[in-house]
Amino acid sequence: MNIVVVGSVAYDSVETPHGSRDDQLGGSATFFSIAASKLGATSGVVAVVGEDFRDSDRAILSDHGVDLNGLSVVPDGKTFRWGGRYHEDMNDRDTLFTHLNVFQDFAPDLPQAYEESSFVFLGNIHPGLQSNVLDQVESPRFVALDTMNLWIETTRDKLVEVLGRVDCLFLNDEEAKQLTGQHTVARAAQHIQKMGPETVIIKRGEHGAILFSQEDIFYAPAYPLEYVTDPTGAGDSFAGGFMGYLARTGDFTPANMRRAMIVGSLVASFCVEGFSVDRLSEVGDEEIKRRYGSFVDLTSFEPLSL
Ligand code: AMP
Repeated sequence: MNIVVVGSVAYDSVETPHGSRDDQLGGSATFFSIAASKLGATSGVVAVVGEDFRDSDRAILSDHGVDLNGLSVVPDGKTFRWGGRYHEDMNDRDTLFTHLNVFQDFAPDLPQAYEESSFVFLGNIHPGLQSNVLDQVESPRFVALDTMNLWIETTRDKLVEVLGRVDCLFLNDEEAKQLTGQHTVARAAQHIQKMGPETVIIKRGEHGAILFSQEDIFYAPAYPLEYVTDPTGAGDSFAGGFMGYLARTGDFTPANMRRAMIVGSLVASFCVEGFSVDRLSEVGDEEIKRRYGSFVDLTSFEPLSL
């Protein structure tokens, strides 16, 4: 197994301008691990579900080679549920509800096989749980963390504490500004680097993502899709593509981190083409290579000649 992932495995109810779905498979760990599998990386999921978690959804994860030994099931418990509504401008969404259910009393206990993992993704859950998981991995080579406004507002101290122990932080531009009080993403990234993570990746929805590291600043565009069906999970799919590619190559040079950013962006572009993991699930190597080529075409230009 390449990557230990802690995060939600959820049932989402979403409303988008293209339709609505109730209780569809979602959650940060779900999107991340399926995205990483597209690059040949195996994830071991640390999460909890209730007895209502469907066998067909378990099969979707295991068909992608996701290790479910760390997925506990609470008898009589109810799976985490999240509801969201997207506006015409799908960068804009309202959270309708967050029902933690079985996550409320979750105490992660990592299977022994996960303890020696080199890569750790601390998906968007309570920072206390993120810390707890990190405590149980012996000497990881690369730890990334994703978070959201809820944790910045309600458990800031715990979040700052765990940030001191990670190599890479994913967050969106609003959250970066909220966490640091800075008004430009460049200054926010510098502040975050001082808190711990050497690499800061700021996600900007349909406007792509920017990487700030010690050696480099790189802007990956989002793929200009004509139709977006359901943006849920785009951020986690980005992280899964990015880390899946790093886990596969083991190469942290600036040039390879740039490739990983493009891979993240392209995997996220497949995610948003369908509801839940419908589209992401069916994508194969050929489509990934083709879309990578489209990104090269989209962003290459000749030197300036005046
Ligand atoms: P994204 O669109 O990348 O922000 O991820 C959306 C996913 O995050 C959905 O599938 C939700 O189930 C999950 N999610 C939303 N809020 C939370 C939360 N507070 N804790 C854990 N997972 C969440």
